[in-house]
Amino acid sequence: MALINEHFLKLQENYFFSDIEKKINAFRVTHPEKKLLRIGRGDVSSPLPPACVEAMHRALDEMSREETFRGYGPEQGYSFLINTILKHDFAPLGIELTPSEIFVSDGAKSDTCNIGEILRWDNSMGITDPVYPVYAESNIMCGRSGTRGEDGKWSNVMYLPCTEANGFVPETPDHRLDIIYLCYPNNPTGTTLTHRQLKKWVDYALKNDTLIIYDAAYEAYIHEKSIPHSIYEIRGAKKVAIEIRSFSKTAGFTGVRCGYTVVPKEVTAANINGERIPLNPLWYRRQCTKSNGTSYITQRGAEAAYSPEGQQQIKEKIAYYMENARIIRESLARMGLTYYGGINAPYIWVKTPDGLSSWKCFEKMLYEANVVVTPGIGFGPSGEGFIRLAAFAKRDECEEAMERIRRWL
Ligand SMILES: *Cc1c(COP(=O)(O)O)cnc(C)c1O
Repeated sequence: MALINEHFLKLQENYFFSDIEKKINAFRVTHPEKKLLRIGRGDVSSPLPPACVEAMHRALDEMSREETFRGYGPEQGYSFLINTILKHDFAPLGIELTPSEIFVSDGAKSDTCNIGEILRWDNSMGITDPVYPVYAESNIMCGRSGTRGEDGKWSNVMYLPCTEANGFVPETPDHRLDIIYLCYPNNPTGTTLTHRQLKKWVDYALKNDTLIIYDAAYEAYIHEKSIPHSIYEIRGAKKVAIEIRSFSKTAGFTGVRCGYTVVPKEVTAANINGERIPLNPLWYRRQCTKSNGTSYITQRGAEAAYSPEGQQQIKEKIAYYMENARIIRESLARMGLTYYGGINAPYIWVKTPDGLSSWKCFEKMLYEANVVVTPGIGFGPSGEGFIRLAAFAKRDECEEAMERIRRWL
């Protein structure tokens, strides 16, 4: 008799985003004539940058000829991509990393989940609240989160509230935590940490021997100077932080799949005898065993995102999304709604009108305004009373959605 991993039974039946899709489908069945506008989704709408498309076409041509065909590649990623990453993402920030510290993958979601495998199941952990739901859920699956309480909180997870009261800047805990997940620019609040605010976290980690898992999926949306692009801009971070990045929201790779994780040589964790063990070789070992890498074609596409044309095309796309964000912000302000974010991130975190719950607001907007937003509660208990808007829709859809919300109000 095969026994299941019991921890899976603790999960709520559906992944949060599948629940939203179900409700939308129910609406579509009963209102087939209505056209919905989706303005909450964390998926890009613009096609791939032409530079990436051309590179992938070329790579596919190489694969089609005997002389240039490639089979399995290095599990960690091709050096042409790793060296390009080092040169463009880190060297300009004064961050020195070596090729063996970069691990190319099929995306940031898998990496944020899989990284937990090289850490014992009974570490204590903290997450900011609200945040991308994947961190808590992947830890539930291995038993690290404990059990779910009445209030929706997990018994072994320390929630670090990010609220209006603290300006969405989480306080460092007053006790030690073994692992902490940070995501900046933040999904869903669209807020950021300044260099000083992030330094507080690195200092906390150095003092308390905490491992930080830093998700920088939206790094490319930062344009204010005071906001760090990488946690390694903070002195000492290489000892305590793993950073995860993605080509999804930057180069529109949500359907192509490519990201990477930085595991510096200096970052260590302890074995049960208290001896320090570097995490880099453990992660390398894990990746080599469980993955055969990211496709050659994809990696050539990712490499092309760094070419001068690729960079220009990405800059234009991000500018387009951020202009959407500006339109959304200004419309919300005119409607008298309270909102945050949308300056260094493609997300706008909006307080629901009349104190509606997140789901109630979602349903009312769906049925009465035919606009789909994302309920804040899905990102954690502190998300209640908020909805997330995203800047990824087409311009005319953003404008029309804001007009519908205005009329609805
Ligand atoms: C979208 C998103 C990801 C997913 O990235 P992929 O590379 O597409 O897996 C990771 N982290 C956050 C915070 C995200 O919003």
